[in-house]
Amino acid sequence: MQGTIVIKIGSSSLTTVTGQLDAQQLNSHVEAMVFLMKQGYRIVLVTSGAVAAGFSSLGFKRKPKGIAQKQASAAVGQSLLMQAYMDAFKHHDYIAAQLLITRADFADQQRFSNISQTIGELVKRGAIPIINENDSTSIEELTFGDNDRLSALVSGIVHADMLCLFTDVNGVYDQNPFSYPNAKKYHYLSEVPETLLDAMDQTTSDVGTGGMFSKLSAAKTAIELGANVFIGTGEGEEKFADVLVGKGDGTYLGSFAKNTMSMTKQYILYHSSPRGTIFIDDGAANALLKQHRSLLPAGIVDVNGSFNIGEIVDVRRENNEVIGKGKVNFTNEELDLLKGKNSAEVIKATSRSKKAVIHRNFWVAM
Ligand code: GLU
Repeated sequence: MQGTIVIKIGSSSLTTVTGQLDAQQLNSHVEAMVFLMKQGYRIVLVTSGAVAAGFSSLGFKRKPKGIAQKQASAAVGQSLLMQAYMDAFKHHDYIAAQLLITRADFADQQRFSNISQTIGELVKRGAIPIINENDSTSIEELTFGDNDRLSALVSGIVHADMLCLFTDVNGVYDQNPFSYPNAKKYHYLSEVPETLLDAMDQTTSDVGTGGMFSKLSAAKTAIELGANVFIGTGEGEEKFADVLVGKGDGTYLGSFAKNTMSMTKQYILYHSSPRGTIFIDDGAANALLKQHRSLLPAGIVDVNGSFNIGEIVDVRRENNEVIGKGKVNFTNEELDLLKGKNSAEVIKATSRSKKAVIHRNFWVAM
């Protein structure tokens, strides 16, 4: 079995500016995915296009900006989009399956894990999970922001080997190639340089939501989660296969060493809301950050907030610098009593065998 590939296709690669699905483009993406699947790759598709495919049916001349108008357009467009994918995959004897996700689904650890199991089962059975944000129910403040980010988070969930951010630009440039003809293209970046992100134009296209800034930010997240990333374009049945053998027309990003992050750590880092803060001394910070050890009560200097066993807390140095997040094995009241105490004293006071306040497997540095 080959690896797992997450492919993200944007609205502008699927629809026309006047708000119609572009069947020819959609079919050509499907053909290229089928080509990969026939070689044994598992594909998870993150697709935009619901709003862009739906607005014209509701009488809008161009993609609306208001929330209710976008949500209504998505309700129309999502079914058109899905129908088109189902038909196109069926033509090649593949089953397509729809998953509509909101950020609130990711914030709940049970739902987060259910999403992962559903995707896993679909992929195991040879179906293609087709994911989009549930635009019609998402509240603006609680959206993923754009599907670039959603696809990066999905690549973590499925422990993808590669995230392919497929777009109409052939890679990442040091300046906007449309305004600066001498802009230089990056063929490979081991990581996303902050300087490049800072210099990026954050504007978006008329049809899609994410510009290059959002693609690079998504690439950064996907790399942290252990995936490699391709940002670029291509044509024909072999366009995705070309990406995997290094012949893609775009930019490759990442270390290309497989080192994926566990689901628990992904949840802690990206989706959980910390319930409090634990302040620790430099010795404990060193043990966590450099020696990859667990956090013990002896290193705690102060505790803030009200939390239960199993909840997530921020961990800060005494100077307030955040160094990470983790799942606590004690309540805030317990830690108030136990802070600064050594392990023998802790066991005596609580008769609990778990000495670690945060076990290293449930800890993520930031
Ligand atoms: N979920 C939106 C849609 O399907 C697109 C979000 C994006 O373009 O990033 O229209």
